Amino acid sequence: DPILRADAQPEDGGEDRALRPQTLHDFIGEAEARANLAVFVESARRRGEAMDHTLFHGPPGLGKTTLAQIVARELGVNFRMTSGPVLARPGDLAAILTNLEARDVLFIDEIHRLNPVVEEVLYPALEDFELDLVIGEGPAARTVRIELQPFTLVGATTRLGLLTTPLRDRFGIPTRLQFYTVDELHEIVSRNARLLGLPAEPEGTREIAARSRGTPRIAGRLLRRVVDFALVEGDGRLTRALADSALTRLGVDRLGLDAADRRYLRLIAENYGGGPVGVETMSAALSESRDALEEVIEPFLLQQGLIQRTPRGRMLAHKAWAHLGLPVPQSPGQ
Ligand code: ADP
Repeated sequence: DPILRADAQPEDGGEDRALRPQTLHDFIGEAEARANLAVFVESARRRGEAMDHTLFHGPPGLGKTTLAQIVARELGVNFRMTSGPVLARPGDLAAILTNLEARDVLFIDEIHRLNPVVEEVLYPALEDFELDLVIGEGPAARTVRIELQPFTLVGATTRLGLLTTPLRDRFGIPTRLQFYTVDELHEIVSRNARLLGLPAEPEGTREIAARSRGTPRIAGRLLRRVVDFALVEGDGRLTRALADSALTRLGVDRLGLDAADRRYLRLIAENYGGGPVGVETMSAALSESRDALEEVIEPFLLQQGLIQRTPRGRMLAHKAWAHLGLPVPQSPGQ
């Protein structure tokens, strides 16, 4: 059950849109990123120029797409959205770039997955707002240069390390998004409950916040599921007891870990004496792709201090043994 997966799930769809914050002011959390963006947006507006290219990096579900949309809205320009894997050929990118109006925001999600050939075409577009396209093949092939309107690229990636250096260097404004605190998530859940017209006790919304893995996308999803329980099995009110029983039934524990997280931790504890164990071994044993482990499962476990990454592999931290209700071995890893 993907209830705690931070990456977007099909059922998240339309329900979300009404709850998406529309302005930097409404956006809760990521204070540092927001403060910086406010300055860059204002400066670009005063100069009447396109804002510098911006890169958002960090785990899924923290608000990269939302912030990109907000930036476009605050700049008063159009927002165009695509993603690395979708731009298969240079022509796909050219079609989008040549349709941009002056100062528009182009958002490329999963920019670390750009085809290298497409990336080559992107460089001059970013630097000089020019496209060099090869038309035709063989001896008849020729290059045409196309002038573009100045635009702002906003790239998003969950894997900064997979970006090529030349691409990274072309972003004037790299911004790292952080996991949210429980207080910030509590504000978000309370706001969403209010927008949904749901009567909620602060202890109820707080319980959801505390179990949302530091991630607004998950907070939104858990709130929707708890609302289902409140309507069908409760009296329609969101109380702490209701949130607790609903989340427990959904397999979300007190730290916000789900069955997949606990399977991950148990595997290291029970099969590898606490580690270290290599990520490839983990991937095979859990039948999860290495990417899913590194992008979705591990960042929160690391942030919570439940595991450590060492050169020889992943190791369980003391807190994880306690959380699993297992005794800490005398000399872990032996
Ligand atoms: P990302 O692009 O990083 O995966 P999104 O921008 O798609 O994340 O956000 C995921 C979900 O979380 C969206 O439904 C969005 O409305 C919600 N969300 C993200 N950040 C916030 C925030 N600061 N306040 C309220 N909702 C948020």
